[in-house]
Amino acid sequence: MRNEDGGPPPGVPVGARHAVPSAERAGVELAAFPPKEKWDDWVELESTQWPKRVERHYMLVPTICFNCEAGCGLLAYVDKETLQVRKFEGNPHHPGSRGRNCAKGPATLNQTYDPERILYPLKRVGPRGGGQWERTTWDEALEAIAAEIRRAIEEDRHNEVMYHVGRPGEDGYVERVLQAWGVDGHNSHTNVCSSGARLGYDLWQGMDRPSPDHANARFILLLSSHLETGHYFNPHAQRIMDGKMRGAKLAVMDPRLSNTASMADYWLAPYPGTEAAILLAIGNEIIQHDAFDRDFVRRWTNWDQYLREERPELELSFDSFVACLKGLYADYTPEYAERESGVAGDVIRELAVEIARAGSAFSTHVWRGAASGNLGGWQVARCLELLNVLTGSIGTPGGTSPNGWDKFVPAPFKTPPPQKVWNELTWPREYPLAHHELSYLLPHFLKEGRGKLAVYFTRVYNPVWTNPDGAQWIEALRDQSKIQIHACLTPTWSETAWFADYVLPMGHGGERHDTMSYETHSAKWLGFRQPVTRVAMERMGRQVRFTYEANPGEVWEEDEFWIELSWRIDPDGSLGIREYFESPYRPGERVTIDEYYRWMFENSVPGLPETAAAEGLTPLEYMRRYGSFTIQKDVYELHERRLTESELEGAETDPLSGVISRRDAAIGVQIDGRPYAGFPTPSRKLEFYSKTLKDWNWPEQALPGYIKSHVHWETVDRAAGEFPLIATFRLPTLIHTRSGNAKWLYEISHSNPVWMHPEDAVRLGLATGDLVRLWTEAGYFVSKIWVTEGIRPGVVACSHHLGRWRLSESQGMERWSSALVDLQEQDDGRWHMRQLHGIEPWKSEDPDSQRVWWSDAGVHQNMTFPVHPDPVSGMHCWHQKVKVEPALPDDHYGDVVVETRKSFEVYREWLAMTRPGPGPGGLRRPLWLQRPYKPDAAAYQV
Ligand code: SF4
Repeated sequence: MRNEDGGPPPGVPVGARHAVPSAERAGVELAAFPPKEKWDDWVELESTQWPKRVERHYMLVPTICFNCEAGCGLLAYVDKETLQVRKFEGNPHHPGSRGRNCAKGPATLNQTYDPERILYPLKRVGPRGGGQWERTTWDEALEAIAAEIRRAIEEDRHNEVMYHVGRPGEDGYVERVLQAWGVDGHNSHTNVCSSGARLGYDLWQGMDRPSPDHANARFILLLSSHLETGHYFNPHAQRIMDGKMRGAKLAVMDPRLSNTASMADYWLAPYPGTEAAILLAIGNEIIQHDAFDRDFVRRWTNWDQYLREERPELELSFDSFVACLKGLYADYTPEYAERESGVAGDVIRELAVEIARAGSAFSTHVWRGAASGNLGGWQVARCLELLNVLTGSIGTPGGTSPNGWDKFVPAPFKTPPPQKVWNELTWPREYPLAHHELSYLLPHFLKEGRGKLAVYFTRVYNPVWTNPDGAQWIEALRDQSKIQIHACLTPTWSETAWFADYVLPMGHGGERHDTMSYETHSAKWLGFRQPVTRVAMERMGRQVRFTYEANPGEVWEEDEFWIELSWRIDPDGSLGIREYFESPYRPGERVTIDEYYRWMFENSVPGLPETAAAEGLTPLEYMRRYGSFTIQKDVYELHERRLTESELEGAETDPLSGVISRRDAAIGVQIDGRPYAGFPTPSRKLEFYSKTLKDWNWPEQALPGYIKSHVHWETVDRAAGEFPLIATFRLPTLIHTRSGNAKWLYEISHSNPVWMHPEDAVRLGLATGDLVRLWTEAGYFVSKIWVTEGIRPGVVACSHHLGRWRLSESQGMERWSSALVDLQEQDDGRWHMRQLHGIEPWKSEDPDSQRVWWSDAGVHQNMTFPVHPDPVSGMHCWHQKVKVEPALPDDHYGDVVVETRKSFEVYREWLAMTRPGPGPGGLRRPLWLQRPYKPDAAAYQV
């Protein structure tokens, strides 16, 4: 009850009149989450009008956060009067994030209304990288790009069209576009991110990621920092805490005391690169004590293939395999692991007991960290998965499933056939087993004359800053004989956008359509990102034809961009492209974005039409209203699914392996006389033994094993000031590039000092704040030291999330996050960057820009790193051997010096470690291994 003037109700004592007005008295409810029935008119008090009780009416529109790969749900509060988004909060109906977000979710608001934002398409004038731009029209940009792509396709130069993506944030849309064009032009960031771990998992189970069921685990082992930053971290962090609250123990292996390690029951701080030795020692303890799940290992690993191929002299029996297994890992004692890693043998023994006790409720995860830092990091994932296999915790409640079981990608209408070409710029012969494209070697390949590009799209991708060897990228991007048109699709400025011909502004998380689904827990769900202002306008009865009509300035959404571009490449349909962009409902006419998703939700998402109908909604209306849909809960043990009679009709079983095939495709496996679906590997079992590795020239790596890292302690001269540098860790509050225009996030995090243990600091005579030079193989950077016990002695670490820079005072990067630098190139391939000033307040339409109080922008370390492509997985091995020495008098904080000639030599050294294809059958790559956007089988033939 309230007075009409908003004053206190009758009977309230005098004096209470000046108390903070409660929401209840203002007629506004307090609720953890607004109930969905009120999403069309949610009322809150206007905070800026306090203490007046002014009500604001909001349309609440769900979308998906675009700031990391976790795909959490957001709920946008769109002011019904102004159509401004006032805030982004969590979407309680999203099954992965359950209404919770990290700081980066709500910061979508900063990104949306950043005064530095690119609002209109820009075209380069003057030399590429010269920093001169003019505003252009979408029409002009689309025409120019479409004409060049059309010419390349008509002249059979399909491999000269390349789309290079940083943060995908969607599942399959652009791959469909590229396949419609018939090009093998997909390139990703994955080889600077996760392909080490992915290859390890793929070799085991035919799916390249783990999906741990932390909430039901008894023991959780992380080689990552999932409570703060790991992959799918917010959804996983919630479930790790659920598990801990139910009594699960947590062990974290990380040379650095991450926030996650600080919450763990066991923090193991190994010497970097020795993680696999510890994992094998744990496995060996479990094996030697017969504490493994015998029946699971007997039924679900390809032990028989191992015996047949490698130990034909032995009896083909499981007992004989067990005896063999005991011998295989016998040398990996806890004492050996202690000598390698520095982690106490007793702790390793204790962990083995705990893990064996957890049995099938043992969840694990490795993504970046050890798997992406080290030569042979892919074997770390294999060794970790070995522990899950030994404990029988694959696909069980509280165990670890393959990711594919907990992810759902709906099919769009009319799928184009696979492309008939193979692009050696992304899938070169030297790396037949690389898990993803050799993306970060593109400038090296271009320099070597392996090809050129007619049209190169970078899309939410910033290789100049994010990748190693950024100066090589600058040299390649500047070269118009190698890259004819560089179109940068980006929601923000970036160091790479500076070297584009077109900078095309794209939407943030509340300004675009995408579907997303991730293995956040043991369930399958689908999330729907949407342009929230557009949806709010439509709910209020306004007609919107294209998303850019509702977005700020002329910001497009990519889905509509690709439709428009494809139509212009093939306006009359003669190239066979246009048909994939014609409406499934209105033949011959251009598909609208509503129609694209309407068809998908009506036809490809099991259970959605029925659930929507029960609420009187169409499937599209349902997804627009709730932003997500759970397809299946409690997904466990899918490998144990029995094949049905109809699946077995016409199928044949290989008498030796038990593999069941139909029409030349393996569909399952016979075990103990029963037909099971199994795993999508050649043996349909978990491949303890990889015949693929043997056949493709890596026989010594056919079993899970330990490869000594390129930064192994034997190669590091500590007395000479050498250290392994851990350069991969994220900060919880930042994203690689897109957080650059999120003022709240940079207010929290704006420095990346070099972590050093007190023992080392004393030894080198350094104290917190001292400037040092860190020498890599290609140059050095100057940064400051932070002395902390949160790092293992003998190791230094520096986050890769800072060190943004710009070349012009007022353009080219957001001023919330970047230092103004002078970048000089010398004739001999030597680059020198010096910060002219750090972050400073400036005048803009956002008064906060004059309140900026932080000045540190961090240091760009990645530019001094040469590439280290792992010869098997293709993963860039991020750890660096560095030499730390006090800075010289002329050194400035943030200095970066690098020689691209030297970094190119390092590239050559690592290239020489490869064992090129083709492999068996003259193939470029094993057909069964995963590959994004697979070409036609014929294209696999050299
Ligand atoms: S974890 Fe944070 S940044 Fe990532 S999707 Fe969720 S809210 Fe966004």
